[in-house]
Amino acid sequence: MSLLTDRTAVVTGGAQGIGYAIAELFAAEGARVVLGDLDGDAAARSAEKLGGVGVRCDVTKASDVDALLAAAPAPVDILVNNAGITRDATLRKMTEDQFDQVINVHLKGSWNGVRKAAAIMRERGRGSIVNISSLSGKVGMVGQTNYSAAKAGIVGLTKAAAKELAHHGVRVNAIQPGLIRTAMTEAMPAKVWDQKMAEIPMGRAGEVGEVASVALFLASDLSSYMTGTVLEVTGGRFM
Ligand code: NDP
Repeated sequence: MSLLTDRTAVVTGGAQGIGYAIAELFAAEGARVVLGDLDGDAAARSAEKLGGVGVRCDVTKASDVDALLAAAPAPVDILVNNAGITRDATLRKMTEDQFDQVINVHLKGSWNGVRKAAAIMRERGRGSIVNISSLSGKVGMVGQTNYSAAKAGIVGLTKAAAKELAHHGVRVNAIQPGLIRTAMTEAMPAKVWDQKMAEIPMGRAGEVGEVASVALFLASDLSSYMTGTVLEVTGGRFM
């Protein structure tokens, strides 16, 4: 028996990066995977590699999240709220639109996922929701007032939902990754990358698989007595 045999797992922003790595590991552990992404073609291509289903889904739209959950071949057991964007700028330069976009995708998107998946899971008396926060939500990062606020908000959302859903058998936990090598971080100027590296006790960036293995732990029964927790995957940065 693998860890996720007969489970159905939905991953938002799953076409690439951390989301894809999570879906890949879940599929290897026996899960049926459903990938939602803003880019529907990319979601379908990635899902095909895993024998899963890929659909276009903008997590800021509740109706898209409904459609994503409905695309699953069986009721959802696991949801990973992973979709994300950055629109970095200092307070002096950040536009209201950049603030709204980031809050919408991360915070409202995760809220949409939690409430829609919870409605299905509570009826079945089981389920695990994993929200992808960020170390930026723990410590606050310069140029990320939007992103840090959204990622800290995800921690509050996780704990409040965990309390509401615990007696229905539904667990809600979060992960705060540090610097992980993906398209999102590779777009960073070399000087900023080097500054971040200097802050990491383990002396290296993380790989997507190192976030995926923690997501697997939270999604599976290995963490059956854990809810409302926030696990840092950071190489010791800002511990
Ligand atoms: P990527 O940019 O590689 O992947 C994010 C995915 O989310 C993309 O496929 C993107 O689609 C999709 N997406 C964006 N907006 C939406 C939306 N409205 N609805 C659905 N999907 C959407 O990023 P990462 O893999 O690096 O990041 C994944 C998560 O991990 C994010 O929540 C991020 O904030 C978090 N994180 C990442 C860290 C890192 O170091 N990489 C550190 C801490 C947290 P498209 O490309 O089509 O826009």
